[in-house]
Amino acid sequence: MSSADRLHEPKSWRLGTGLLALLAICLVPAVAGAALYLSHLRDTALRDAYRAADLVAIGTSDRLRWLLQDAEAMLASMAARPLVRSADPTACDPLLAEFRTISPAFKTLALRLTDGRSLCSELPQPPSQQSVAAAPWFQAAVRQPGFHVSDGHLGNVQNEWTVRLTYPVKDASGQTVALLITPLDLRQLQERLFAQLPASNLGAVVDAANRVLVRSTLQGERAGKPAVENVSRGIDALRREARAAGVSAPASLQFPGVGIDGVRRLFVIRTVPMSGWVAVSGVPEDETLRDYRATRNRSLALILVVLLAAGLAAWRVSRGIRLPILGLAAAARSVARGDLAPRAPDAGPTEIRDVAREFNSMVVATAEARERLRTSEREYRTLLQNLPVAVVSHASDGAVELFNDRACALLRMTPEQMRGTAADSPVWHFVDAQGERVQPCDYPVAQLLRTHQPLSPQIFGIVAGDAAAAHTWVLVNGYPQLAGDGRLLHAVVAFVDISAQHEAEQLRLAKESAEAASQAKSDFLSRLSHELRTPLNAIIGFSQLIQMDPQLPAERRAQLGHVLSAGEHLLSLINQILDISSIESGAQKVATQAVPLAPLLETCVAICRPLAQAGAVALEVARPLPGEPDPAAVQVQADPTRLRQVVMNLLSNAVKYNRPQGSVRLAVRQDGAGGEGPGVHVDITDSGIGLAPAQLERLFEPFNRVGAERTGVEGHGLGLAHSRALARSMGGEITVSSQPGQGSCFTLHLQRAGHPAAASRPGRVN
Ligand code: ADP
Repeated sequence: MSSADRLHEPKSWRLGTGLLALLAICLVPAVAGAALYLSHLRDTALRDAYRAADLVAIGTSDRLRWLLQDAEAMLASMAARPLVRSADPTACDPLLAEFRTISPAFKTLALRLTDGRSLCSELPQPPSQQSVAAAPWFQAAVRQPGFHVSDGHLGNVQNEWTVRLTYPVKDASGQTVALLITPLDLRQLQERLFAQLPASNLGAVVDAANRVLVRSTLQGERAGKPAVENVSRGIDALRREARAAGVSAPASLQFPGVGIDGVRRLFVIRTVPMSGWVAVSGVPEDETLRDYRATRNRSLALILVVLLAAGLAAWRVSRGIRLPILGLAAAARSVARGDLAPRAPDAGPTEIRDVAREFNSMVVATAEARERLRTSEREYRTLLQNLPVAVVSHASDGAVELFNDRACALLRMTPEQMRGTAADSPVWHFVDAQGERVQPCDYPVAQLLRTHQPLSPQIFGIVAGDAAAAHTWVLVNGYPQLAGDGRLLHAVVAFVDISAQHEAEQLRLAKESAEAASQAKSDFLSRLSHELRTPLNAIIGFSQLIQMDPQLPAERRAQLGHVLSAGEHLLSLINQILDISSIESGAQKVATQAVPLAPLLETCVAICRPLAQAGAVALEVARPLPGEPDPAAVQVQADPTRLRQVVMNLLSNAVKYNRPQGSVRLAVRQDGAGGEGPGVHVDITDSGIGLAPAQLERLFEPFNRVGAERTGVEGHGLGLAHSRALARSMGGEITVSSQPGQGSCFTLHLQRAGHPAAASRPGRVN
């Protein structure tokens, strides 16, 4: 795959990943919404908690403000009294009585000069001038032009943690001459401020030095102690903010922190007007956020359950889809590899099961189609193998692809040699009808590859290797197998072995040529013989006339006898030649008839007997045993004159080429048990010189005496040729078997007259 294709290929993603993404798309907003909701709940809970804490802080701050305003007003009214302004120590009793009347809430009242000397005091033993004058709260109060609220400090008398409220007493010139002093009862204050406060909530007041003045719990232990660190830091920050804002309005700050008891609280701190104090309120975080946390935990549990359920459902769905699809993919891969056995699992959602079923049906159909294809291919190969022609299919590059055994046999190559061999393999080549070597570019397959057109039948000879002549002649057909787009797929060439027909044709041509030559020879001989016979008859006729002259001297008569004898011999020769040639040319038709064989043979033997006696050769005829049928007592299908000629020739030869005291025996055989066969055979057996195989081969050639011309036996080598021509003209034959020095057996085969098989065989004339 090219990089461009890869670019355009859609990005692949896994089903599990897709489902997870889908799950995320659905669940993330839900989870985010739940988180937002929980956050909102938490904010609300925190806001409510801080508001509750702030209410305590506001209440504390307000109550303190009211207290201090009351105290200021009370002290201011007292400071304005003449008795006070007179700073007369003797007027203390009425002054203190009035103070009790005006402000029963305050414990004691004291009047001291600015140098610390006590003018009036409800205490029996007021602190000394020096100790008071040295106290920081007193020095700070003296410096103040008005009402002053001190920080917490240990009281001089009772050694208790206390706060002093002071107001300056001024003379007529406005000069501070004394201070009205009243201590603030912190225990009472603690009760007044925090009596209603729930035990879990914390309320406290811290002075300007960040020391605890009052506290809703642990007052005894914590009073005068520094506030816990984180609260101190908050107070410092609040003071800085207030200073920076430059406003005297109450300011507040809220923050979480850990209290002295280790409990985590939500703190709200508020400045207390008219003092450097800070009201502190704290609500326990756990308690205030309990509802929120319960809701949050329930929500988280619900979300978790939903997430788990969704995840499980997604996993089940993914698995339920993924496993069948993986099975389907595995089956598809097997099919692609050619293995049609695996099937897609029938599982999963209906749609996937439908696909799996369709896929399986397709695989089954493919397997069946493949089986059909295999069967068809088997049949095709069987057909190809059993075709009576050789077939070779070539690929488009000419290489041999497919072939049958006949093709291997024809080209004399093994299947291994055939496969992949080029069409113009030098192992063999073609020759045309004239035996000329065909160029490879004119081979049938080359023509097919070039033209893509079916070939018209052509005859070629196939020559193996360097052989000179074709070993097989073939009729070649060829056709191209084309694809739909005209592309050549295969070039198929079929060879039909026509060697037999070719040979027959060659033989026919040769025979025609031989027959023409033979005809010409016969015609020539016929004309020649005729031309010779006419003057020869004249010679013989005039010689006979002259011989009849009684005046002829004896010597001339004898000479004339020689002329006559030579003329008759020559005439006999010419007649025989003429006879042979006319029989061979078919000019002479032989009329056969049923001829009784025994009398004819008797006649022939009788004629030959003098010759045999002259040569001291015993001539005998085989006789049947008493009681047995005579095989010679049969009629044969023959021309009696011709048959006599043949038998006479064979008998005279047997006598001529015999030896003194030799023998000649004539016997007749018949075919079939009981002599019912169609053939009748006349054996003429002699004990003569015999013939060698080489002589036998040329025995029937005219004028060939196979060596007898050197023996002194008379003859001219025409007898056997003439006899065989005659025998064949009657539908018979002459065969011979011989052993040199032992004798020969010439057999004349004849057809029995009247036999159906014999009657159906026409007479042969050549
Ligand atoms: P001819 O006898 O006139 O020579 P034939 O045609 O009758 O001519 O015989 C051809 C030759 O066959 C003879 O010359 C002889 O050599 C051989 N021949 C024929 N018959 C016999 C026989 N019975 N035994 C041996 N040789 C024979």
